[in-house]
Amino acid sequence: MNRDFLSIVGELNLAKKVLVVGHIMPDGDDISSVLSATLGLQKLGKEVLAGIDWRIPWYFYEFDETNLIKGYDEIVNSGFEPDFMLVVDASSPDRIGRFQEFLGKVTTAVVDHHGTNTLFGTLNWVDTRFGSTAQMVFRINTELGVSYDEKLATINLMGIATDTGFFRYSNADETVFSDATKLVSMGGKPYLVSRIFENKRIEQFKLLSTMVEHIRTENDGQIVYSYLSKKDYESNNCTEDDSGGFVGELRSIQGVELAIFFSEYEQNEVHISFRSKDWFDCSKLAVLLGGGGHPRAAGCTLKGELSVIVEQVIREAKLMFNTQLEAIKNI
Ligand code: 5GP
Ligand code: MN
Ligand code: MN
Repeated sequence: MNRDFLSIVGELNLAKKVLVVGHIMPDGDDISSVLSATLGLQKLGKEVLAGIDWRIPWYFYEFDETNLIKGYDEIVNSGFEPDFMLVVDASSPDRIGRFQEFLGKVTTAVVDHHGTNTLFGTLNWVDTRFGSTAQMVFRINTELGVSYDEKLATINLMGIATDTGFFRYSNADETVFSDATKLVSMGGKPYLVSRIFENKRIEQFKLLSTMVEHIRTENDGQIVYSYLSKKDYESNNCTEDDSGGFVGELRSIQGVELAIFFSEYEQNEVHISFRSKDWFDCSKLAVLLGGGGHPRAAGCTLKGELSVIVEQVIREAKLMFNTQLEAIKNI
């Protein structure tokens, strides 16, 4: 058994008041990991609060448990004084937003599967072999003796499903399927998980159409990119939450190796998502631009004018694409 894993389980066993924290711009794995850990520790009789310093996309409220997640101000104003902080699915301190304030004050465990993790906890269990952090939380809960009901199993399954693109990506290995099987056998409902994404507003299709109008290609169609400006979101009566999955649509285009999606979620603040199919290491490009992630899915956030950012990032992307292409040709 991994030593960090066992230390974290040992600390959680002793802890009485736990703060479970996820990352900004939360995705399915993050919300699943936060809620699975929170519900699991609550079942053991501990006082637990769940915090994310960002708005939660509306479609996650398909699960009532999402209401358990509080914002930073609410947690600080509640006067809650945790004796342990569990950070999930976050690769660096900036990814937890203002919850960074707790680092150094409260014993912190970081549980994550990003290769770009900076090991910023007191204890760090980081393992890139896991397709999702939700699987790591599943192991923690199991070791702690948490009993799973239908709700917890479904919430825990949600992170495994979403981070593997519903079992389609290259990270969908044997452990992903066996963990999912275990969760389904304990009552997890895949059809409830898929409902988060099969509950679209008509405006999202209009937004998708705007995104499609903006598609550009480079390198004979091996690189594809598109963008949505703050104005595009507003004119379609949408927010950035409504474009979840768009970068996956770009990657699904025939012949594409690298897909890039620029989302101006605030005026002059742009989140950039990178996705690749077979060989391009997106995390290297994201790290170069101040972000992080996985080889096949990574991201970063840049400040400035959208058109300038698009031009700069595409220039860097093409350079790195050609360098990595040369490197694999020489293997
Ligand atoms: P997405 O493109 O869906 O926002 O993120 C893809 C992956 O990259 C996720 O694993 C996410 O955690 C990571 N990621 C996205 N944006 C950032 C960022 O700004 N900084 C870091 N460190 N990781 C990011
Ligand atoms: Mn995540
Ligand atoms: Mn993840």
